[in-house]
Amino acid sequence: MTEEIVHIDEKSFTFSDAVVAVGGIDTSYCYQCGKCATGCPVAYEMDLTPTQLIHAIQLGLKDLVYNSKTMWLCAACQTCSTRCPQDVDIAEVLDTVKILMQRDKKKPQLPNVLKFNKRFMGNLKWFGRLYELGMIAMLKLSTRKFTQDMGMGMKMLKKRKFSIWPRFKGGWAVRKILRRVKKQEKA
Ligand code: SF4
Ligand code: SF4
Repeated sequence: MTEEIVHIDEKSFTFSDAVVAVGGIDTSYCYQCGKCATGCPVAYEMDLTPTQLIHAIQLGLKDLVYNSKTMWLCAACQTCSTRCPQDVDIAEVLDTVKILMQRDKKKPQLPNVLKFNKRFMGNLKWFGRLYELGMIAMLKLSTRKFTQDMGMGMKMLKKRKFSIWPRFKGGWAVRKILRRVKKQEKA
């Protein structure tokens, strides 16, 4: 049986160091038990399971991580972080990778997820709470998939799962929080 040898150069170390610097999580504590992947509700859709993604970070395989769909499929349920016997906050690591990708100007494998996140935050900023119809309208404009999910949307509207008109409540407070976060990020 031949063994594949992975060569780790100096650059390899800087990637896991960057994860520590930006997210404050040291992935070297992971001993690959696999508990995070077995508990993840969306792992079956991922190209790299959370366990594999952490391993790729340990090895400094930045391109493999950046080209993965994993962090864009993550539902941020925190199950992985809760299950980890080594207290590695995997959910935070996935968020950190997304931040690093933006800094490195890398495009996501699932661009519509990024568009959704941006529309969601924009909506929250204006209305103080989620105005679903407005958010979906903005999302459709950016993705140009106008008819996708139309049937389900009509059904939800009929059952009054969301309202036609927005309710403005606390938008100023949310904007204040976001401004504070931006300041902290810059600092
Ligand atoms: S936070 Fe993301 S990666 Fe972790 S278990 Fe939930 S969906 Fe999976
Ligand atoms: S649960 Fe923790 S120690 Fe186990 S594979 Fe996942 S990150 Fe590594």
